[in-house]
Amino acid sequence: MSSTTLKIEIEKATSSKIGQVDFDNLAFGSVFTDHMLVCDFKDGAWQTPKIKPYGPLSLDPSAKVFHYGQAIFEGLKAYKSNDDSIWLFRPDENHTRMNKSCVRLQMPEIPKEIFFDGLETLLKMDKDWIKKGEGNSLYIRPFMIATESCVSASPSLEYKFMIICSPAQSYFKKGMSGVKVLFAEKYSRAANGGVGFAKCAGNYAGQFYPTHLANQEGYHQVLWTDASTHENLEEAGVMNVFFRVGDKLITAPTSDRILDGVTRKSVIEIAKDEGLDVEVRPVTVHEIIAAAKEGSLKEMFGSGTAAVISPISGFGYKGAHYDLPEIENKFADLFKKRISDIQCNKAKDKFGWRH
Ligand code: PMP
Repeated sequence: MSSTTLKIEIEKATSSKIGQVDFDNLAFGSVFTDHMLVCDFKDGAWQTPKIKPYGPLSLDPSAKVFHYGQAIFEGLKAYKSNDDSIWLFRPDENHTRMNKSCVRLQMPEIPKEIFFDGLETLLKMDKDWIKKGEGNSLYIRPFMIATESCVSASPSLEYKFMIICSPAQSYFKKGMSGVKVLFAEKYSRAANGGVGFAKCAGNYAGQFYPTHLANQEGYHQVLWTDASTHENLEEAGVMNVFFRVGDKLITAPTSDRILDGVTRKSVIEIAKDEGLDVEVRPVTVHEIIAAAKEGSLKEMFGSGTAAVISPISGFGYKGAHYDLPEIENKFADLFKKRISDIQCNKAKDKFGWRH
């Protein structure tokens, strides 16, 4: 844990809500721990961070976040190992990515000590909410919103950085057969020079309608293609995407349209460590359809903090549906196990990813 002496004001909850929570039946992201971190930015500086009881905020209706969408967030998880130690997975990556989002949305960057000391103090206070055992974790949601009261379209002068935490079980329940994705033909998530690489709220709002249309066709998520040609497969709603053609693992390169996923880069490093043939290059719709038709497309899966690895069972494109084969020795299972074992301190951390 960090040794800096950042001052944090602490107001403890008078009683804990933990007794009311059914930890065996958690809907993802709907239950929150007893405390939250709040740090205000005003007069050009970050103020003293506060940890206080989890609860509603009071904001002026003219707060800029409501009008111009200056809102960014991150997502990471804490795990408890059998000896009760608590671990974060590559949190420095989330801090760095959050600051990249800040820069792109013209918001002030968050100092490392506020992010880390704030998070570590919060986790110590709410440590009982982190459960041991397979699939259990605490989902951590750092976020920042523009709070200046003023309806003029210019960057806010005031912000709130907050961290809230939600106990989580496995994102996709056991036995779920996999996600079906629809390749985007018309709608786009991100454009060159845009904000696709940033974790800003609007990127998600803009996906809800096309995803709703995909849901009506029986697909869980849209697999986004590049906005200019719709010929390259990029990423899905909350996950990066990998393709296994023969024994080759292929994923699109990150760009200003694609989120630089922490799980994605971990999969690539583990694949190299396993001696697999990994290609980071544009992946075209046509090569994937051709591979599906000739039987060389063996797997597709998504990578992301929430589910680690989400197998994709099939995809749709231009009215046709393609199912992926049921195979043994899936890459998806290998990556899921290797990453999960590092996350919850079951395996040696040869990459230095645990914090
Ligand atoms: N793409 C998008 C759009 C996402 O929201 C996420 C989830 N953060 C990911 C990919 C996966 O990123 P990570 O592995 O860092 O969770």
